[in-house]
Amino acid sequence: MQILDGKEASQAIKDALKIQVAQGAAGGKGVPHLAAVLVGNDGASETYVASKVKACEEAGFKSTLIRAEATISSLRLLDTIRELNEDADVDGILVQLPLPAHIAAEEVINTIDPAKDVDGFHPNNVGRLVLGHPTFVPATPYGIMLLLEHYNVETKGKHAVVVGRSNIVGRPMSILLSGAGNGGNCTVTLCHSHTTNLAELCRSADILVAALGKPEFVTEGMVKEGAVVIDVGITRVEDASKKRGYRLAGDVDFKNVAPKCSFITPVPGGVGPMTIAALLKNTYRACALKRYDD
Ligand code: NDP
Repeated sequence: MQILDGKEASQAIKDALKIQVAQGAAGGKGVPHLAAVLVGNDGASETYVASKVKACEEAGFKSTLIRAEATISSLRLLDTIRELNEDADVDGILVQLPLPAHIAAEEVINTIDPAKDVDGFHPNNVGRLVLGHPTFVPATPYGIMLLLEHYNVETKGKHAVVVGRSNIVGRPMSILLSGAGNGGNCTVTLCHSHTTNLAELCRSADILVAALGKPEFVTEGMVKEGAVVIDVGITRVEDASKKRGYRLAGDVDFKNVAPKCSFITPVPGGVGPMTIAALLKNTYRACALKRYDD
């Protein structure tokens, strides 16, 4: 069994980006600039945004954090997005999800300039992904593809089972794994809460991606010997023994599943850091398309 170490792989990506960014800066082309919008002060969202901003700094990117009260009106938030769209100095825009219930996330996403949509959630970019055209690939599935590539995990001809069909993880993951070309060419089964024979399908997976947000849901009996297991889940589970009062749990019962796997991602330290590295790659791409390719 080999651990797919997201910390190590993401560091390699950040180091490579740092060199590219320094070269761009030396050539007088400026550096990639990510604008992150955080609405409200949800603890997990604060942590994720802080990690993204920190990663930008490490790679030599510029970043701006725009904070808004949880009570901000939709109209005001949409105006903020439009201002960022117009700002020539901003290459990438991300709006940290989830948003408060009174704001329609779809409308916010649709307002982001597709050329700055480094989360890859805008319908134009999703359409391009489905068609197999170059685009901003949503960061979590993109990060997983980069992790598989980093460890030379073979995907061609494999049966991949993806549990979870969200627009940000499961569905784009299924599209990438089933796509033609490197890192794809899997036969994919996409499962969700109405799948009836889930355990049986999981057991038939050569590559199993768990993205449902249910702590330790995937147990030993659901995994084939030698499978590659990607654990996307991150749930805060109360734990009085921890200073902060909780621990982070994945969707996979790591302790019992890991011995059966050929490769497995840990939580934390697997998919999480790769998501951030992929976001930086998207932001670099947005910048390069705008500033470097002239
Ligand atoms: P969502 O809640 O949006 O989607 C969960 C999906 O899982 C849904 O499609 C749902 O099915 C499916 N599901 C729920 N319960 C079951 C079940 N019992 N059996 C089969 N399918 C089920 O979650 P996200 O995709 O946003 O996130 C999933 C997990 O990944 C979360 O823990 C989240 O925190 C984590 N995450 C981690 C990231 C990282 O960087 N590591 C980034 C993003 C997310 P249905 O559609 O039928 O409701």
